[in-house]
Amino acid sequence: MRAFTGTFVFPETGLIEAGALVVEKGRVLAFEKKAPETAEVVKLSGYAVPGLIDAHVHLSFSGAPDPISEMEAEPREATVVRAIRYLRAYLEAGVTALRDLGSRDGLAVGLAYAVEKGLVPGPRVVAAGRVITPTGGHGHRHGVEADGPDAVRRAAREEFKRGAKALKLMATGGVMTPGVKAGAEMFEEEELRAGAREAEKRGAVAAAHAQGLFGIKAALRAGVKTIEHGAFDRWDEEAFRLFKQESALLVPTLAAPDGILRGEGVPAFMVEKTKSIAERHRENTFEAWRAGVTIAAGTDAGTPYNPHPNLARELVLLAELGIDLEDVLRAATSYAARALGLEGEVGSFRPGAWADLAVLEENPLESATAYARVGAVFKAGEPVA
Ligand SMILES: [Zn+2]
Repeated sequence: MRAFTGTFVFPETGLIEAGALVVEKGRVLAFEKKAPETAEVVKLSGYAVPGLIDAHVHLSFSGAPDPISEMEAEPREATVVRAIRYLRAYLEAGVTALRDLGSRDGLAVGLAYAVEKGLVPGPRVVAAGRVITPTGGHGHRHGVEADGPDAVRRAAREEFKRGAKALKLMATGGVMTPGVKAGAEMFEEEELRAGAREAEKRGAVAAAHAQGLFGIKAALRAGVKTIEHGAFDRWDEEAFRLFKQESALLVPTLAAPDGILRGEGVPAFMVEKTKSIAERHRENTFEAWRAGVTIAAGTDAGTPYNPHPNLARELVLLAELGIDLEDVLRAATSYAARALGLEGEVGSFRPGAWADLAVLEENPLESATAYARVGAVFKAGEPVA
C-alpha cells in the first residue's frame, strides 16, 4: 500500500484538499485525512491533479509544417520510432492517457499494445486505428475508404478486429486534405449510424471529424459520442440540444488552427481554409460551453506546428475563451476520460480509478498556465517522470 500526501485538486467537485491518496495495486483505494500507518508515504509538493488526458492526437504525424507529406516520404518503421519518442514526452508533460484518432496503417493500435505490455513507456493509448472516410473524402490519404452503410460497417469491424478501441468517422471535410471543402458533408447519416453502432456494441466511443453544422447534427443523431473540431457555421439551439440529449462531448482542438495560422511552410490551401473558420471555431466553442455542452480537451497534436505534447497550450486556449478553470481541468481529466471510454478508470481520484497523477507547480484553478509546469508524474502509482 502506498499513500501520496500533499494537496489534491478534485475535478468533479472543484475542491482543493490536503490529505493522503491511498493506493493499492495501482488503483485509488481512498482519500484520507492522514496516511495509514502501514502505507509507504510519498510526499508531493505542489498541486496534484489526476493524470492529464489528451482526447485527440495523431501519433504518426510530427507537427511539421506539412506532416502528411513528411510521413508519406519516410519508412513506416521511422514513423513508429518517432511515435515512441512522443509517448515518453507525453508522460513528462503529465499526460498519462490519450486517444489517437487516426494513424498511418493504424500503427497506434500497436503502440497501445506495446505500452500495455510494458514494452515501451507511455501514457495509456486508446487508438482508433485508421480513419474511415468516403472515397476521396477527408483523410483518405491515410485512411480506409468506404461507401454505403454496409461498407462502413465492414470497415469499422475490420478496425476493431485489428485491435482498435475507438472509431474515427469523417462526417465532413477538413482543412488538411487538398480539394476537400472544410465543412462539406462527407458520410450520410446512415453511414455514420452503421459505424457508430459497431463502436457501441463494443463499448467503444465513436468520434466524428465534423466541422459543418449539418454534419455535426447528422453525427449526433447517428450515435457518435464525440464531435471533433466543430468549427464551421453558426450553431443553433438544435445542435446544443442534440449534444445534451445524446450525452455527447465536443473536442474543439483549438491548438490545431492555432498552429496552422502561426506557421511558415504550411501548405497554402491549409492556411486559407483555416483562416476562413478560426474565428467561428472559437465562438462556437465558447457558446457551446455556455449552453451546457460538455467540452473535452484534445489537441489534434501532430498537425502543423502542433507538437507532441501540446495539451498545455490547448488548455490555455480554452481558458482564453472565457471557459472557467474548473471546467478546463475537467476537460483534461474527468470529461476527457469519457471521450476515451474510460470514465471512472482515469481522470479522477475516485476509489477504483487508476492512480495516475500529475503534480503541477501552480494552482490550476488560478491560472491555466499551471499545466505547463509539471513536476512529478505517476502512472498506476509508479513514478514515470
Ligand atoms: Zn485529428
